[in-house]
Amino acid sequence: MTTEAPKVNFYGLPLNELQMHLMGLGKEKFRAKQLYKWVYEKGVTNFEDMTDISKEFRRQLPNLFDLSLPKVVERLDSRDGTIKLLVDVGEAEGMDRTVEAVLIPSDGRMTLCVSSEVGCNLGCKFCYTGKTKLKKRLSAAQIVGQFLRAREALPEGQSITNMVFMGMGEPLDNPEGVFKSIRVLLDENGINFSRRKITVSTSGLVPMIPEVTKAGVRLAVSLNGSNDEVRSEVMPINKRYNIKELLEACRVHCRETKDKVTLEYVMLKDVTDSIEQARELHRLTRSVPCKINLIPFNEHPDSGYQRPLHESVVKFKNELFRLGSHVLVRKTMGRDIYAACGQLTSKFEQHPGQMNEDQLSVADYTHA
Ligand code: SAH
Ligand code: SF4
Repeated sequence: MTTEAPKVNFYGLPLNELQMHLMGLGKEKFRAKQLYKWVYEKGVTNFEDMTDISKEFRRQLPNLFDLSLPKVVERLDSRDGTIKLLVDVGEAEGMDRTVEAVLIPSDGRMTLCVSSEVGCNLGCKFCYTGKTKLKKRLSAAQIVGQFLRAREALPEGQSITNMVFMGMGEPLDNPEGVFKSIRVLLDENGINFSRRKITVSTSGLVPMIPEVTKAGVRLAVSLNGSNDEVRSEVMPINKRYNIKELLEACRVHCRETKDKVTLEYVMLKDVTDSIEQARELHRLTRSVPCKINLIPFNEHPDSGYQRPLHESVVKFKNELFRLGSHVLVRKTMGRDIYAACGQLTSKFEQHPGQMNEDQLSVADYTHA
């Protein structure tokens, strides 16, 4: 009886790991680059089609590597062009689980927002994902799989230009899956995505921020409060790593990468949307090379929070602008398919109830 090594999922292997794996099997190192080219550049998913590889090796490959991509359980197309894919990531705690990958077209770009976890232990009060405790950290293969499935979902001639780790879950709570997937995405022998086009968003796991710096990708931080009192109320993680520590970590990242950090600020009616808070936010962040991204809260039932008035968003933004901050208001995309921030859910959970027409409209305060 022969004992065969278990099949390895190809999409979870950065090039050097693939090389080591092949060499461990007594194969030549250069085969790894060959396989990368076939799979990622040419999109071949059948080893038989890899014509410059010897017949003998081609026959062995299906027993060594798994080239199956995660299944897309459902696809939803928004009237604003946003596409949401519900992707099967297998079983956790006795249930089949899904995550969402969302394609967002805007200003000539096509941004893919990927998920890193099912559920999230950070428990931010306003977040729909945070209502469910962590069920599963995604593997690198499942994150790369979201990218490849999203690429397939686009019409001929269109490509993904930017990628953000802003879907379900906290990326820095899943460093193994996230940073490995980034190495696969960046490799010039394969997908060859640009470092400057990938952004990792964190709720503020301060000790992990240097890993983002090391990976050479862009950093976004969910600030969501202009002082420790408010931030601790909406984001429990602030009790562990306060604003001062968090912004210092951002400064270090900026110094080392010569880049700006994006500070996300969710606007919650009567909680984080006052003019005084806009001023406080400016004072707090003026010494950090940053741009501030205001996100009007996307409502979901029983959150206990409300979307701010359009007027408050405009005033808040204008005040920051007047004081000299670099500020943008994030467009709300895909609301009719529940694809907006914080509404991402999995197939087996109940979706937020029917939203009214006003909530369904695509709001763009950017030019207000
Ligand atoms: N865990 C990471 C990334 C996922 S959340 C993080 O927290 O940064 C991505 C962004 O969506 C964060 O800035 C978060 O503050 C924001 N967000 C979460 N729920 C939201 C909601 N209901 N409305 C608007 N923004 C929300
Ligand atoms: Fe987790 Fe981010 Fe949601 Fe907070 S905002 S609960 S960190 S996914």
